[in-house]
Amino acid sequence: MAQDDQFKKLIAHAKEYGYIFQSSEIYDGLSAVYDYGQYGVELKNNIKKYWWDAMVKMHENIVGIDAAIFMHPETWNASGHTSAFNDPLIDNKDSKKRYRADDLIEEHIQKYQAKINKDVDKGRKKFGDSFDEKQFLETNPNILRNKSKIDEIQGRLVKALEADDLNEIKQIIVDCEIACPVSGSKNWTDVRQFNLMFETQLGSVAEGASKIYLRPETAQGIFVNYLNVQKTGRMKLPFGIAQIGKAFRNEIVARQFIFRMREFEQMEMQFFVKPGTEKEWFNHWKELRMKWHKALGLTDEKYRFHEHDKLAHYANAAFDIEFEFPFGFKELEGIHSRTDFDLSQHQKFSGKKLQYFDPESGESFVPYVVETSIGLDRTFLTILSACLQDEEVKKENGDSDIRVVFRIPPALAPIKLAVLPLVKKDGLPEKAREIIDELKFDFTCQYDEKDSIGRRYRRQDAIGTPYCVTIDHKTLEDNTVTIRDRDSMEQERVQISELTKIVDDKVSMKKLLKKIF
Ligand code: ATP
Repeated sequence: MAQDDQFKKLIAHAKEYGYIFQSSEIYDGLSAVYDYGQYGVELKNNIKKYWWDAMVKMHENIVGIDAAIFMHPETWNASGHTSAFNDPLIDNKDSKKRYRADDLIEEHIQKYQAKINKDVDKGRKKFGDSFDEKQFLETNPNILRNKSKIDEIQGRLVKALEADDLNEIKQIIVDCEIACPVSGSKNWTDVRQFNLMFETQLGSVAEGASKIYLRPETAQGIFVNYLNVQKTGRMKLPFGIAQIGKAFRNEIVARQFIFRMREFEQMEMQFFVKPGTEKEWFNHWKELRMKWHKALGLTDEKYRFHEHDKLAHYANAAFDIEFEFPFGFKELEGIHSRTDFDLSQHQKFSGKKLQYFDPESGESFVPYVVETSIGLDRTFLTILSACLQDEEVKKENGDSDIRVVFRIPPALAPIKLAVLPLVKKDGLPEKAREIIDELKFDFTCQYDEKDSIGRRYRRQDAIGTPYCVTIDHKTLEDNTVTIRDRDSMEQERVQISELTKIVDDKVSMKKLLKKIF
């Protein structure tokens, strides 16, 4: 299936099964803003728990906070967001469509990369077992030409972004003859900077009101509380502060469902360390965060590291963890070594000392920071895009059928088990309710008595429920039930008293965390 169709299909599935709705849909929606439905919120809460437990519960030296979305406006002057949290935008005069100028150039570069990949595939077919990819990449004239094109454009782009040279960015678009994907024309406006922060007013009367911002990242709430937490928690370096919360960005282009939203959630952790030890901690967090992702079992090949071409002026190392979404490899999480930039800036702008007294050396200094910053919604999208599958199943009469199965990692599944009476009479519904009343303290359960049992199984497969438990007449006689596994579709007759253990074995968060720690 074409990537576009696959993506459309998962968006439709997310809506049909109560995972994600367009915000204010009855008013035709609000662009790049989404609401999570009845199952979406459960999945989201489970992802948060997985992250929070891995960060806070598993580390004695990491604590959490929940800072306000509104912050003193000076925060954003100190962090550099008022002056530099910009994206270069460009409009096509014919289609009236707006683009991020750097994205247009990056996509153009991707075309050369695609040509290289195609040549490699051709070479592999032509030379078979004797194909030496490394040598081919180093010697094939077509590939070398395309590679040098990529290097040239990339080099110009990085330089232009670093120098904030908007004319040069436009010139690259002109020189590369980049056309608008909608109108096909090369009729572009100049490139302008666009600040991504949303503004609002604090105070009820216009004269006394002051301009404040909806936070564009959660990190600053951690930095301004560094000293509060360090002192009240008697924290010793190295230690971390974690936070999950909303962030807001007025994104120029927001067309990729929950990948790029204007209101989204971040899960961030700032790890404060002694200057000089940051490289070691950076490597530690880089590896540990990748392990956290891979433990979910969404296929290891879908993840890769990407080193930043252009480091922010305060950073001394930065890697992204990228995931292969239906529209290609894109950033999922950033791991950044931010030096003492943030704390020093807040120290300067607030006039308050934000230092650490090291009892061993007797010295005071501003700690360095290693940050891990992951998008909750993007993590949700990794699960949606990797786990939603169409599977061919053989029917008893030999025909085949397609079942839609959402293989969510069981520990994150919104509903852990569905309890289904075979028929709506003879005391079976009552028995089903009895079982739920016992299991609901441990697991999110769902009762369903509508439609045939086969259809009910399919509905639970599409929601992603790891287990279905069926109550039949035999249950009333001997307290046994049938338990059906979502992935294998195998059914087993077991005692009701065994259910808690069987389900827990599959869905426990502890098991998931033990893959990492
Ligand atoms: P991008 O380059 O994709 O715009 P970024 O580098 O600006 O992302 P960061 O500022 O490092 O992103 O934010 C950390 C994480 O927050 C990202 O890795 C991503 O998962 C998430 N994130 C950032 N912007 C958005 C958004 N508009 N919608 C959803 N998630 C986002």
